[in-house]
Amino acid sequence: MFFTNRKTALRLAALLSLAVWILGAVPAAAQNLSAQKEVVFKSVDENAKAIALLGDNIFYFAELGMQEFETSKLMTGILEKGGFKVERGISGMPTAFMATYGSGAPVIAIHTEYDTTPGNSQTPGVTDHKPMVEGAPGHAEGHNTNAAVMIGAAFAIKKAMDQFKLKGTLKIFGSPAEELLIPRPYFVRDGYFKDVDIAFHDHVGEELKTEYGVRQYALISAEFTFKGQTSHAASAPWHGRDAVDAAELMDIGFDKLREHLEPTQRSHRVISFGGDQPNVIPPLAKIWWFFRETTIERAQANFDKAKKIAEGAALMTGTQWSFQVFSAIWPTRGNKTLAEVTQKNMELIGMPKWSEEEEALAKELQKKQGAPVIGLHHKVEALRESRQTASSNDSGEVTWIVPTGRVSFPSNIPGIPAHHWAAGVAPATSLAHKGAVVGAKALAASVVDFFADPALVAQAKETFKKEIGAVQYKSFLPPDQKPPIHLNKEIMDRYRPALEKFYMKEKPDFK
Ligand SMILES: [Zn+2]
Repeated sequence: MFFTNRKTALRLAALLSLAVWILGAVPAAAQNLSAQKEVVFKSVDENAKAIALLGDNIFYFAELGMQEFETSKLMTGILEKGGFKVERGISGMPTAFMATYGSGAPVIAIHTEYDTTPGNSQTPGVTDHKPMVEGAPGHAEGHNTNAAVMIGAAFAIKKAMDQFKLKGTLKIFGSPAEELLIPRPYFVRDGYFKDVDIAFHDHVGEELKTEYGVRQYALISAEFTFKGQTSHAASAPWHGRDAVDAAELMDIGFDKLREHLEPTQRSHRVISFGGDQPNVIPPLAKIWWFFRETTIERAQANFDKAKKIAEGAALMTGTQWSFQVFSAIWPTRGNKTLAEVTQKNMELIGMPKWSEEEEALAKELQKKQGAPVIGLHHKVEALRESRQTASSNDSGEVTWIVPTGRVSFPSNIPGIPAHHWAAGVAPATSLAHKGAVVGAKALAASVVDFFADPALVAQAKETFKKEIGAVQYKSFLPPDQKPPIHLNKEIMDRYRPALEKFYMKEKPDFK
C-alpha cells in the first residue's frame, strides 16, 4: 500500500490498532458462537448427501400415519448408530420415538412428522399426474423432508455439543400421523415435554422463514359409531335398524347447524364405515369428523353440538350411538424470542442457489397447475407475526407449554397446494435436497444458540410467559384415551407390496 502523506498513514495505523483492540475485546462467547456455527454448517454440508438420501428413502416408503414402520426404523437406526439413546414406541404409538443426547439443563426438543396422505402417489420430478402406484398414498406435502432436516440438524447439534462442551440435553421426537393430528397431545399428556425448556418444529414449505404468534387452528378429531340391527333389506326391512341412516342423518344435521355456527369454524367428515352390501340392513356405521376453530374451547363447543346431533340421529333411527376422540389439539403458536434467533440464522444462511433445471421444473408445474408462474423464491422472508389460518398441526399442543420456534424450509414449489399429487413432484428432487440443507442449518444453528447462551433460554421463557398471559393449558383428550394406532392399517397393507418395488437400495450414512 502506498500513502501520499504521513498524516493519512498515521490515521490509518491508529484505526487499525483500534480495530485490533475491538476484535480482541469481543467476548469469548461471541467468538465461540461463530465457530460453533461454522461447525454446525460444515456438519450439515458434509451430511448433505445423507440428508437427501434419507428424505428420498422416506418418500418411496410412502407410509400413512401410524403405519410409518419402515420410516421410523430407518430414522431410529441412524440415530442409534450416531450415538443417540433411542426409545421406540413412546406413548403407545409403535412408529413414534424419542432420541436423547447429553444430560442436564437446558433441555431442548426438536420434533417433526414423516407421514403421507392417501391417494397421492406421484413419480418425483414429473409434472403430469403419474402415480408410482395407482391409488397408493404419497408424500404430497413433503413430510419426508421434515424428517431429513430433523436428523441432519440432530447430527450437527451433537457435533457442536461435543466440540464446544455445551451443557444440556437434546431430545428428538419422531411424531407419527401428523396428517391425523395425533401424536403430540399424547406426548404432552404422558409427560414427555415436562422438563423441556425450548422446542423447535421443522416443516417443509416454499420459503425459508419463521414466524411468531398464533398461526393455525385448534381441532378435535372424533369418530361416531352407530349400531343398529340387521334384517333382509327386501323381505323384512321393518325388522332392521339402519346404522348408515343414522350416519347420514348426523351429516345432514350438522349441515343444518353450519348456518348457525361462527363463520370461523371449519368442519369436515368422511363416512369411515358405510355398510357391507345393500341386501342386508347395515347394523354398523362410522362417521369421522374434524371440528376446527380458532381456539380449542370453540372447537370443543362445536363438538358438543355434534354429540347432540348424533343423539338425535340415533333417536330417529332407533340405533345406539357412541364416539371416540382420536385427538384434540391446540392451535400452533410461535415464541418471538425463538423466532428472532431463527430469523438471524436464516439470514446468515440464505436461500439455496437454484439451478436452471430446478427453476424450470417449478415454472413448468406452476403453469400446468394454473398457479402464478414465479419459479422459486430467492430471498429469505422477513420476520413477521403470523396470521391464523384454518389448517392445523398437532405440534400446536407443545407451543402452549414450551416456548416454540418453527423452521419452515424451501423444499417444495411455490403456489402448489399440499395434499394434491402435484405437491409430490418436488419432495424427492435436488430442489428438495437443497431446501433441506438450509432448513437443517437454520434448525441446528438456532438450537445451538440456545445451548450456548443460558440467558437466551431465560429470555425466551420470559417472553413466552407474557405471550401466554392468563391462558391455562389443559389437555382436551379424554383422560383414558388411547392413541388410535389402528388407523390406515388396511390401506397400507393393500399398497405396501406394490410400493416395496420402489424402495431405494442406497441408504443414508450420517457422520
Ligand atoms: Zn404438514
